[in-house]
Amino acid sequence: MKPPHRPPEDRSCVDPMISVVMPAYNEAASLPGTLEAVGPALARLSPRWEIVVVDDGSRDATRRLMACPRSGVRYLRLSRNFGKEAALTAGLARARGDVVVLMDADGQHPVELLPTLLQHWRDGADNVCAVREHRDDESWLKRLGTGAFYRLVNAGASVHITADAGDFRLLDRRVVDALNALPERNRFMKGLYAWVGFETLAVPYTPLPRQGGRSSFSMLRLARLALTGITAFSNLPLRLWSALGGLVALGALGYALWLVIEHLIEGHPVPGWTTLACGLMFFSGAQLLSIGVLGEYVGRIFDEVKQRPVYLIGEEIDGGEPAGT
Ligand code: UDP
Ligand code: MG
Repeated sequence: MKPPHRPPEDRSCVDPMISVVMPAYNEAASLPGTLEAVGPALARLSPRWEIVVVDDGSRDATRRLMACPRSGVRYLRLSRNFGKEAALTAGLARARGDVVVLMDADGQHPVELLPTLLQHWRDGADNVCAVREHRDDESWLKRLGTGAFYRLVNAGASVHITADAGDFRLLDRRVVDALNALPERNRFMKGLYAWVGFETLAVPYTPLPRQGGRSSFSMLRLARLALTGITAFSNLPLRLWSALGGLVALGALGYALWLVIEHLIEGHPVPGWTTLACGLMFFSGAQLLSIGVLGEYVGRIFDEVKQRPVYLIGEEIDGGEPAGT
């Protein structure tokens, strides 16, 4: 392992180079406004900064908007839509900052929080995550699903994933290097931030409304992401099915014993088919379900062994140093 590039006590007196990584998918309506707000906010914090916009294969005007270089902004276009996790991975690999802030392109992450995040870094934190204060803006179904997800993933995971901490966070270069070194293809970033560890701190914030456009995460897409998270960070579903299998086998053994005894004592003729039919249906259902759970894990092993890259870059435009430096 490389030694840390800078002792933590140096942080209070340096102006770190700050990179903002901003994944954008069909964000033509909000990206320009977000860049207008983030650029000056970064300039107030440090003379050295950059914004890495990762266009995740947008099909709207995002590409046209970004075609002319803007100072301080690097534009990276993926060859197609790979998903937010892949876009973040691409941005983290390209970011050159001593600290890297991950922010959405839709303006939901308040720039007013940037000085607080940086101050915590100066005080020694390496992994400062912004945690939503509440989810009042979301439907009850989404809140219920999110709550169940965090309970399930944390019940079986070896690391604790902070509930309601999204991708809005500040990472020290050491954390970024550690994330970049992780070889896995199924990248559930919220789990990976927790897995790499380092000095972690949570800061509460209230997300703002979207500047324009609409969310790309439907309930189905969120469910898929949750499944990625659970299979990547928890063996609990597998263990639950083993436990259920054991319990059912024990029950069946007891029932068989009872039948033999009943037959010997009372000399009953063979009992009815209802028990048989119900048992058959129950056990075949349980078996199919457990094969499905296994399949989820096997599918992800398949993804890993194929060793395809997490993303492909289609185009890159570097707007150069920020104006005024
Ligand atoms: N995003 C992306 N690729 C996708 C979907 C979303 O890069 O396939 C980006 C999107 O442009 C935004 C961020 O991820 O900057 C969060 O997405 P969104 O606002 O749709 O999610 P929500 O805030 O509703 O959770
Ligand atoms: Mg959003």
